[in-house]
Amino acid sequence: MRLGIMGGTFDPIHYGHLFVAEESRVRFQLSSVMFIPNGLPPHKQGCEVTPPEDRYAMTEIATASNPYFECSRIELVRSGPSYTIDTLEWLERERPDADLVMITGIDAIAEILTWRRHQEVIQRTTFIAATRPGFDIQYLKDRLPTDYLSRIATIGSTSLGISSTDIRARVQAGSPIRYLTPDGVAEYIKEHRLYLSDGLDMSDPSDVGDPPSAIAASHAVAAGRGQKERTEL
Ligand code: ATP
Ligand code: MG
Repeated sequence: MRLGIMGGTFDPIHYGHLFVAEESRVRFQLSSVMFIPNGLPPHKQGCEVTPPEDRYAMTEIATASNPYFECSRIELVRSGPSYTIDTLEWLERERPDADLVMITGIDAIAEILTWRRHQEVIQRTTFIAATRPGFDIQYLKDRLPTDYLSRIATIGSTSLGISSTDIRARVQAGSPIRYLTPDGVAEYIKEHRLYLSDGLDMSDPSDVGDPPSAIAASHAVAAGRGQKERTEL
């Protein structure tokens, strides 16, 4: 059996993640896809990240309707930064019969040379990398050696320009996020007042103030929190 692994910060999970997982499952005949939210993302240290339990809850809500999707708390219960190699070793013990296939976006896998023990990661598993706007196959070819590229299959038929950074900025600016993420996730964000700063409810237009300044504020948030995956070290 072939098991897909979809790791991420999922802050919050959105249709970009879900579509890539489903496309990979069907295209590569994966028996299921396991979503693994990071506990402490190594590449996002120093950035403000939503508590793991909230990110896990949203991941469960988003994946519940797909019988081929499952979620794991492994990176939440492990202390310290969530390194891919540790998760891989756990999966090899936990699912000894499975061929493990890691599913990522091209932006994430393009940084693999900065991941802890990346030579072992690339030798012990294969990857499916999905294009995102601004991150195409050439972006990968420019950054990785051919022996790494030979372990990475790419999918790019439908690239969705959805990111968690944009969703967080939209919530803060009071802009809609419906149809970017499942309704249950949008409801969870609202109910738990995630992504609002200083307790100010930006979804209430009377709180937003002058629209141009609200837009500028949301861009500032996006710039501050949306640092790309840089290093796993
Ligand atoms: P952020 O903006 O906070 O970095 P994100 O939208 O990139 O969030 P992550 O949780 O960082 O989401 O991503 C988890 C994995 O999903 C990564 O491998 C990332 O490349 C991939 N991914 C995220 N969004 C998309 C998308 N729209 N299309 C393809 N892959 C995606
Ligand atoms: Mg990201």
